[in-house]
Formats: sequence, structure tokens, C-alpha cells
Amino acid sequence: MAQHSITVARGDGIGPEIMEATLSILKAAGAELNIEEVEVGEHVYLKGVTSGISPEAWDSIRKTRVLLKAPITTPQGGGYKSLNVTIRKSMGLYANVRPVRSLHPYVKTKHPKMDLVIVRENEEDLYAGIEYQQSDEVYQCLKVITRPGCERIVRYAFEYAKQTKRKKVTCFSKDNIMKMTDGLFHKVFDEMSPAFPEIEKNHWIVDIGSALLADSPEIFDVIVVENLYGDILSDIAAQIAGSVGMGGSANLGEHCAMFEAIHGSAPDIAGKGIANPSGLLNGAVMMLVHLGEQAVAERVENAWLKTIEDGVHTGDIFQDGISIRKVGTQEFAESVIERLGQKPTRLPARSYGESTGSCKVPGYTFSEKVAQKVLIGVDLFVHERDRNPDHLAQKMEDLWKDAVLKLSNISNRGVAVWPNGHPETLCTDQWRCRFESVGQVEIAKEQILKLLELCNESGVDVVKTENLYTFDGQLAYTAGQGQ
Ligand code: NAD
Repeated sequence: MAQHSITVARGDGIGPEIMEATLSILKAAGAELNIEEVEVGEHVYLKGVTSGISPEAWDSIRKTRVLLKAPITTPQGGGYKSLNVTIRKSMGLYANVRPVRSLHPYVKTKHPKMDLVIVRENEEDLYAGIEYQQSDEVYQCLKVITRPGCERIVRYAFEYAKQTKRKKVTCFSKDNIMKMTDGLFHKVFDEMSPAFPEIEKNHWIVDIGSALLADSPEIFDVIVVENLYGDILSDIAAQIAGSVGMGGSANLGEHCAMFEAIHGSAPDIAGKGIANPSGLLNGAVMMLVHLGEQAVAERVENAWLKTIEDGVHTGDIFQDGISIRKVGTQEFAESVIERLGQKPTRLPARSYGESTGSCKVPGYTFSEKVAQKVLIGVDLFVHERDRNPDHLAQKMEDLWKDAVLKLSNISNRGVAVWPNGHPETLCTDQWRCRFESVGQVEIAKEQILKLLELCNESGVDVVKTENLYTFDGQLAYTAGQGQ
């Protein structure tokens, strides 16, 4: 095996214990790793670095391009940003690949035939981290979905399926409600599908899709999803396969990759020497495959499967009648090491062949196409404690008199409340006043500035504005609910 430089972070909670166990197995299996250790997580946060990662750690990851990271603890409150989200986004690790399979009957599960991979978009969606408080009562988190983001992850899912000889890719979205954001994700999935004729594809609305996943996971193969759905679904999938302690995860981008366990730092069992190191070990196996060390990866994974099959189990997966020996973290690692060179006899053995397991996607090419964008109005978000929308509408109509740009409606929490509304609708202290041009004719930005100036002079508290456009003649915004 060639020598590879990797960066290692031992993390917090059970992190150091499971990392020690994992590295000892890799070493015994003959993985020639030149390890650079970096400190990330709670210690770094508590030194006052709000990102949880030091500049030296960034340098190391940039140099080795591969990070093996144990889970870390994000301190509550205090403005600390999630280190995981920071690393994923800063390093452009846009694809989060989480394989989950059941190891029935050795690990208790209601789903003996489950074997699926969740490909989760890792940078966008509600995890863009763009949140605001806009009034006393209203908080907002922006869901950001981009065409490049969708194209990269959907292509990745198809390429991954092709390369790992999986048969089907399923897309989950909520495009019946979020027609523009989730609609784009679904649309890109449909656009890209024909380029992979050998792969079966389908789409589920995420709620019923998740119910099916929890009930009949064996009908799924590769699932491609946006960030938040993927986060939730991969924990559910890992749990119903037997334990969150078993799942590994790869975070991949064009420049670097990070490998980790799905689970967190489990502070409730930290320092007890009882944590299951399998999640991180499975992450490390994905790393070996990514490094092109398929033979070592197979050696480790097959010894691990044999250990599980022999009933040598940590407490989280121990079951009377099936498990033979209850072991702690280090003893589990030693049991895997003893079995290096062996294969499971009842569970299917792993063979990677030439597959990289974590396929590298071509660099993204931005489209040259530019749509014809026409400004046809503006939404003014107004902080106003008076709960009667008629009063606000009157105020707006008194201050703005224009033959083209007119107040067309007011909504509250996305529900139309003026000119037509329902008395039952709960109105908060933030209102969206929509000004649209009659006949969707183009308006000048100066008109919006003039409108804002008049609002300001009249004491109307505009907390945010959103321009309204058409792109190639299509309305580029949604109507209020009930409008
Ligand atoms: P968790 O995954 O740490 O723990 C959930 C439950 O699963 C606990 O009962 C725990 O004991 C058990 N568990 C988890 N891993 C196990 C293992 N390997 N072996 C045996 N049992 C295991 O989730 P949590 O308690 O919600 O989060 C704890 C901390 O971890 C938080 O600070 C959170 O921010 C952080 N976290 C980090 C990551 C990461 O670094 N990738 C991911 C998720 C959560």
C-alpha cells in the first residue's frame, strides 16, 4: 500500500476512545497512513474560537485533503457555530454519502433486507445559516436552493449509483408545497435522469417517502435529498438498521473529503470505554476506498463483519440469545484485529473491486445562459403592531399613489389578509405588503427607492424588501396562500 497523508481530529466525548480503536485497526490492517493530528471542537471553542477550528487545522486539511474526524460537541448558546457545518461548507464538501445496511440477525432490526445509501446535499437549504429576527414576534430562516447545488448533488447520486452498481435512485422533495425551491431540486432530478438510462428512478414527496423508508426500507437503493431531509432521514435509517452507533459517513467535494461517524459525541457514555467504534470505523473504510486502498478497506470491513457475526458486540447492539460476548470499545477493536484476513461466513462479504466507492465528480461548469429578468414589483415587509390589515393598507394607499405600481395585497405569515382575508387567520406583527405593476410591465428601481423613502417619512417600519421579477416571462415568486 502506498503511504497517504491524512489529518485526524480525535474530537470530544466518546471521540478520542473510538478514534483510538479505529486507528489501531487501520494500523494492524496495514494501512500506511502518515497522520497529522489537529485539535478541533470543544477545547478550541472554549479558547474563544467561535468556529471551533484553528487556522493550523485548516492548513493541514488543505494539505492532506483528507480528514478523519471523530464527533465533536458543539457548546450550547454563546454564538458557537457548528464545526461540522463550517468544515463542510468552507471546504465545499457538498455530497454527504451515508450507506446503511442491516446485519440481521446479528444486529437487531425489524428490517432484515435493508441496504441503502442516502446521498444528502451538504451545503444549502436551511443549513445556509441565514436567520433573522425581524420584529418582536417573527423570526426567519432562509431556505437556499441553487441550480448548481442541485445539479452537483443529483449528478453525484447518479454517478455514485452507476459506479457502485446500484440499480435505483429515488429523489425525495416537498415540491407540492415549496414549488420553487424543492421544485427546482425535483426538476433537476428529472432533467438529469435520462443521462443514466441504466438506472431506475422515482420520486416521493418527502413525508410519505419517509414513512415508506421507516416501514419498508428494503424498497430503496440510493436516495438523493436536500440537506435537512437528509440529516433527519439518515439518522432514522441508521437507527432502524440497528443502531446510530454503526453508520459511517463521507463528505466529499472537488478538493477535499471528510470521513466521520453519523452519530454525535455521546456525552452520556463518554470516558466509560463502552462506545461502539463501528460508525467511525465504517467512515474510515470509506476513506480507505476513497484513497484507492480497496484491498485494505475490504480487509478491515470483512474482519469487522466477522466480529459482528461472531457475536462480539458492544452494549448498544448486545442482544440476549444472539450476542456471545459483551465488549468495550478497545476490546471490540482487538476482536476486529484478531479477525483481520477472515471473511464473514453468513453475512455477505465485501468486495470493492475497482470501485472508488466515493466517486469523484467532474468539476462544475456554470451555465452561460442568462434569462431575461424584468422587475415588476416589490414586497415590503413591515413591522406593525396594529393587527388590522385595513389600517396598514389605508396608510400605504395614502402615501403611494401611482398608476402603474400598486398595492395588490397584504399577507401575514404567507397568508393573504387584504383585500380578502379570513377573520380566523392569526396575524403577527409582521406584514408583507406586495406592490405589483399593472399588466406586469417593467418598473424602474428608482420607484422602489421612492416608495421606501415615503414609507420612511411616514413612519412605516420596513424591515426587509424583496424585489419581484419575471424570468423569461415566468413569475419568479409565489402568491400568498389563499390569494
Ligand atoms: P449522539 O449521537 O451523541 O447520542 C445519541 C444517543 O446514541 C446517546 O444515547 C448515545 O449514548 C448513543 N450513541 C451515540 N453514538 C454511540 C456509539 N458510538 N456507541 C454507543 N452509543 C452511542 O447525539 P446527541 O446526544 O444528540 O448529541 C451529543 C453531542 O454531539 C451534541 O453536542 C451534538 O452537537 C454533537 N453531534 C456531533 C456530530 C458530529 O460531530 N458529526 C453529529 C451529531 C451530534
